[in-house]
Amino acid sequence: MTIALSKGRILKDTLPLLKAAGIELTEDPGQSRKLIIPTTHPDVNLLIVRASDVPTYVEYGAADVGVAGKDVLLEHGSTELYEPLDLNIARCKLMTAGKVGVPEPEGRIKVATKFVNVAKQYYASIGRQADVIKLYGSMELAPLVGLADIIIDVVDTGNTLRANGLEPRDLIRTISSRLVVNKASMKVKHDAVSRLIDQMSRAVQETCQP
Ligand code: AMP
Repeated sequence: MTIALSKGRILKDTLPLLKAAGIELTEDPGQSRKLIIPTTHPDVNLLIVRASDVPTYVEYGAADVGVAGKDVLLEHGSTELYEPLDLNIARCKLMTAGKVGVPEPEGRIKVATKFVNVAKQYYASIGRQADVIKLYGSMELAPLVGLADIIIDVVDTGNTLRANGLEPRDLIRTISSRLVVNKASMKVKHDAVSRLIDQMSRAVQETCQP
């Protein structure tokens, strides 16, 4: 079984859940440049990929299983993935944000984001006309230099917004990371995949208990 994960908070928070399922890494991905990391389980390898690429690896079956934020999954928009488990990790909020004290313009609004599909769906759902501008990072800059009126980004503590003179506005949805499974792997590797889901699910429930 191959599991696709991204480095950073998802990897850090997923490792204890994998450990509960009997899977531990043989190398620290933080130290290693390897992109395929063997585990203590002889039949399980980890792929280290970009967060936004996890759904693609799993959809095409290059990985059987993956962990991805709901923000990434919404933006990816595939119906070709099973999403059997909310891991309740890497929690944050997908929000609009704008310059402190600057009201949003009437009528058409300029929105900068890396979540272009989510943004279009959101403004369509509230009946607001929006020009959506795709950015790959440093979204907070866009309202400061007049590129956009509003950004859409994930917010955790809100410190990054505050540090750039921005304020959170509308909550689009709360986000957490999900276990996703390739549809064919769910059939062909049913025993291994369902064991992983059960064991991780139990670990999530134990972590959630006060
Ligand atoms: P914040 O704590 O709000 O200052 O978040 C710092 C930055 O990390 C933000 O600009 C977000 O893009 C990013 N971030 C925070 N939480 C998450 C998360 N759960 N998943 C992905 N990115 C996040």
